[in-house]
Amino acid sequence: MKSEQQNIFEGTRRLQMDESIELTIRSMQAYGPTHKHWAIAWSGGKDSTATLTLIVWLIESGKIQRPETLTVLFADTRLELVPLMAAAHDIMDDLRELGIDVRIVMAPLDRRFFVYMFGRGVPPSGAGFRWCTGLIKIEPMAAELRQLVGTLGEKVLMITGVRQGESAMRDQRIVMSCGKDGAECGQGWYQETLPAELCDTLAPLLHWRVCHIWEWLRNWAPRAEYGDWSTKLVAEAYGGDEAEEKNARTGCMGCPVASKDVALETIVERPSWAYLRPLLGLRAVFERLRSDPNFRKRMPAGERDAKGKLVKKQQRLGPLTMEARQWGMQQVLTMQAACNELAVAQGRRKVDILNPEEVARIEELMAANTWPDKWTGEEPTAAVVQDQMYPDGSVWPVFDFLKSAA
Ligand code: SF4
Repeated sequence: MKSEQQNIFEGTRRLQMDESIELTIRSMQAYGPTHKHWAIAWSGGKDSTATLTLIVWLIESGKIQRPETLTVLFADTRLELVPLMAAAHDIMDDLRELGIDVRIVMAPLDRRFFVYMFGRGVPPSGAGFRWCTGLIKIEPMAAELRQLVGTLGEKVLMITGVRQGESAMRDQRIVMSCGKDGAECGQGWYQETLPAELCDTLAPLLHWRVCHIWEWLRNWAPRAEYGDWSTKLVAEAYGGDEAEEKNARTGCMGCPVASKDVALETIVERPSWAYLRPLLGLRAVFERLRSDPNFRKRMPAGERDAKGKLVKKQQRLGPLTMEARQWGMQQVLTMQAACNELAVAQGRRKVDILNPEEVARIEELMAANTWPDKWTGEEPTAAVVQDQMYPDGSVWPVFDFLKSAA
């Protein structure tokens, strides 16, 4: 009875998969021929990897018309989950064997995550202040796309791995927040914000349910008849067989924006990736950098805008102090070294999130007393008590009050 039930379930699942793939084929048949050149925005996560491997298989098997050119743009933030990076490299090798142009897209040195944070003093992203996605994902992708379009001489069809979570499906929104519905950080942004003069975007797996993504990565794509892809490693990175239960978001290791680092926490439970455990400390480092008043500057009262008017948000919290930047960089280097000591001993893939070139540049920027725009480094730290100024110029004498209470 049990196996019969399983067969019925397997049959239903297969039918649903066939339907999902069929809809993707129809979408590609309708919109694919509108452009001679296609590009795929690939982040290495579950949705964009499923999209990439499926589209390439559909082309190779003749189920959709081959474009004149296909370019795969792999977004490397330098903070990619190590197993996903390993899988991505295997897939890149396979793509190149098929003659597909694969380009690794990375932010220029000064705009990489840690160089920007420690070199300039910009505090880690958070719920209300998110600079990283634009800087390390969208801008480099747009720059590479601009170059590609310049060479090709015409707009491309940019294929993304956007998949609408079920709640978003109901109200027809694209998931822009990577914290919602297990979305992959950046994919919604590629879909919505890449310049329209360079590309039209298409999300051919928009309708796929998360269980179909896992099914494709674990059971279909690795088979020779579907392309023989190394996608099992991608599913494993999210927890292997249990992954089906999870709609985990994908993004950078230690992402300071996500409420939990589900993917990294899951991976380190597996013996082969346990050596990455020290990286679980990244989030605590970001949290301290954000919240320790001795690590942040505060703008003195009386800040004015370009027209000379007092700004609304007086005495705002600002950049990281030099001490915080040094501390943060050392913490990251210590975690990386701890992982790599184990990686060498166990013959595993090394962690490379902060390399000597980046460290040298951070030190150079700090030595040059580099601060974000409008800051000089002369401002007090947030730990210094200041009388509070309101936007109308009135002052609440906190300092006097505290002195008299003492
Ligand atoms: S995953 Fe997190 S750290 Fe990485 S770009 Fe997205 S929001 Fe920023």
